[in-house]
Amino acid sequence: MSEPLFRTPKGTHDVLPEDHKYHTYIKKVVRHRCRQAGYKRIDPPLFEHTGVFRRGIGEHTDIVEKELFTVTGKRDGEGEAREFALRPEFTAGICRAYIEHGMQQLPQPVELYSIGPCFRYDRPQKGRYRQFHQFDLEVIGLKDPSLDAQLIHVLVKIFSDLRIFNRLTLQMNNIGTAENRKAYVEALKDFFIGKERQLPEEDQRRLKENPLRLLDSKEEDTRILIKNAPRLDQFLDDESRRYHDTLLEYLLELGIKSVPNPNLVRGLDYYCQTVFEFWDSSTGAQNAVGGGGRYDGLIELLGGKPTPGIGFAGGMERMVWHMKEAGVRAPDKDQVDVFVAQLGPEAKRQCLSLVSQLRELGVHTLGALGEASLKSQMRLADKFQARYTLLLGKMEVKENTIILRDMQAGKQRQMAFKDVLPEIIGLLGKENLDTYVLRDHIVADED
Ligand code: AMP
Repeated sequence: MSEPLFRTPKGTHDVLPEDHKYHTYIKKVVRHRCRQAGYKRIDPPLFEHTGVFRRGIGEHTDIVEKELFTVTGKRDGEGEAREFALRPEFTAGICRAYIEHGMQQLPQPVELYSIGPCFRYDRPQKGRYRQFHQFDLEVIGLKDPSLDAQLIHVLVKIFSDLRIFNRLTLQMNNIGTAENRKAYVEALKDFFIGKERQLPEEDQRRLKENPLRLLDSKEEDTRILIKNAPRLDQFLDDESRRYHDTLLEYLLELGIKSVPNPNLVRGLDYYCQTVFEFWDSSTGAQNAVGGGGRYDGLIELLGGKPTPGIGFAGGMERMVWHMKEAGVRAPDKDQVDVFVAQLGPEAKRQCLSLVSQLRELGVHTLGALGEASLKSQMRLADKFQARYTLLLGKMEVKENTIILRDMQAGKQRQMAFKDVLPEIIGLLGKENLDTYVLRDHIVADED
């Protein structure tokens, strides 16, 4: 094969049919579990004004500092060209939408979910891409540990349906209020006075700009120092402690086990109190399949009234990886049931409507309506792994018959043309037909 002229840009990939089976299945599970729990679907745009993310996620986070995919728009009229950014995650955009559409007027909490691509200009590596897919759940407008517990419960259900929950651990922490963290950050800075030079360069910068990030640093030198540093949980106020204890009680009530992780802070500025991640139980943080937490200050930061919220985002590529590792086979609905082969102009005409009728009945049908010989059409049917082939040649047209071939058994028989549709349906079984029912009536203006 010659070298292709173009390839996908670095850090992106085509989701090929083989992987789409998994993506489709994940989306189906997410939609199902979200609807059961009262979530409604929202799709914020793929790009927003950069400020939504700068403010929402925080200037000194990796996502904004290093990973934002910015797009400069054209000049609109007199003004400067606006700068946009492809969404690196959903939460900030959904909170912007909550404010913009006055959703505080709706009964609270407002539960929203979304599924789609996100973009981070990260250094590509295994499980880390520049375009990847997330599903995202948000519960906005009310605060209670029972809401945190219910959100986590929906996620446990989703991972269980995907058959990967037993490969994951739920890591939990409470990072207190903004005031608690402010006091803690001061203590952390004091602790590192005189020790700065023992930190790797990247962490020296973090110490200056976002010291909390030192807690989940992967650098060995930093990890050793952190062991003796003051701990965040010593700075939590009573309310945060009570909140967390109640949440743990509720999780226990729901039969959900979690692992306390005092170093889990999550990268983004907007989190407060509850934070959690689902880790690969064998490799740990490196390949978290998802994470989330409470963001009670975010909506105010984006210009709305103070409004509490909690959310979660999961990475679909990493879930597909886990499903494959666990030997989970996503259902294959792309099988070819019937291949229609024909010869001669009259047969060809007749096959056009036969193909259409089969499809309408929910039979996956491929029609070779070209001019190839019957023999080569049969070879093609074999390559497509069709279960049955229907053959209509000049003789059959004349006799009002058709040949039905069972490809696996390698047997064929001739039958009356008028009987072929019920015969195929009988062979496939009514329950296996790919029909769909619009369960709810839609009303069009002309009805
Ligand atoms: P985060 O909020 O950054 O923890 O992202 C939530 C989840 O999205 C992660 O746990 C990953 O599963 C997934 N994710 C984040 N960034 C990437 C990436 N660059 N490539 C693939 N998946 C990612």
